[in-house]
Amino acid sequence: MVKPLIIAIDGPAGAGKSTVARMLAERLGLDYMDSGATYRAAALKVLQSGTALDNQNEIGRVIALAEIQFLAGNQEPKVLLDGKDVTAEIRSSEVTYAAARVSRLPEVRKKLISLQRSLVAGRGVVMEGRDIGTVVFPEASLKIFLKADPEERARRRLQQNHQQGRPSTLADTVSEISKRDQLDAERKISPLVAAEDAHVVDSTYLTAEQVVERILELARSKKLLTTP
Ligand code: C5P
Repeated sequence: MVKPLIIAIDGPAGAGKSTVARMLAERLGLDYMDSGATYRAAALKVLQSGTALDNQNEIGRVIALAEIQFLAGNQEPKVLLDGKDVTAEIRSSEVTYAAARVSRLPEVRKKLISLQRSLVAGRGVVMEGRDIGTVVFPEASLKIFLKADPEERARRRLQQNHQQGRPSTLADTVSEISKRDQLDAERKISPLVAAEDAHVVDSTYLTAEQVVERILELARSKKLLTTP
């Protein structure tokens, strides 16, 4: 049986992972999977339950009961929590912060990593996150670590927030991004690091289209694509 193509795109918030991963999935006819959305759904569940974000035991119990579904396979994937569509709700700043807190817990990561692994269908996937190339799919066909300068990442995140109807200021966005960078890089399990065999792409001065082209070149050079 032919192994499905798995392209892992990891990197910090605002480096352009979602935009690039979506475009790449569309170009290659693969599913697009946003692993961060599953951590966000878990965080929403914890917030709904009123559990304190430092109560590890209780969070473990709450998450064990949560039913999280990620419906991939098209450009606008949906996330369901206990059967309810929470795709828009998980983008709030409260959920964003809570996701970076609850994603530190082993009980949460174990459940979500097995969900993420179960999502690879026959035609393959472009999956983005923080630990896809290191932990979720260490055997991925191609691993990209996408980075960009912090100021540029904050500018992009601010623009995205405005487009999605969540106005904020540049100062707040810079502080949100640096807080999350710190939490994601310092955690004990699955910290944000580039896999040893990842190709590091700095997107600071590149458009999303240029980043996609660079990844396609890498895929071609590894003979992963059947078409030129
Ligand atoms: O990518 P996104 O901003 O939606 O991720 C939200 C949070 O989920 C991140 O700050 C990070 O703490 C966590 N996350 C993770 N591992 C992943 C994807 C996201 O820990 N693979």
